[in-house]
Amino acid sequence: MHGAQYVAEIRSTGTDADGWQKFEGTGLACVVCPCGAITGFVAKQEALKAYKEHGAGRPLAEPVLMSHKDEAAGTAHGG
Ligand SMILES: [Zn+2]
Repeated sequence: MHGAQYVAEIRSTGTDADGWQKFEGTGLACVVCPCGAITGFVAKQEALKAYKEHGAGRPLAEPVLMSHKDEAAGTAHGG
């Protein structure tokens, strides 16, 4: 069963003059699929390729703040 989730990695670049938090893409993205596939954070093109190979089962997720530390936690088998 494939239902890949595509997660773009962004990082905070601080706040602007009005106090809004600013973010920028890091150029990396991660794909996680219930079949057990996980790319880890790789170049976006590579992640998109994996995403398509897994059927693109769901709409692209909103970018989320995720550090590489979180990625390690994500590799734990969730059953
Ligand atoms: Zn899959």
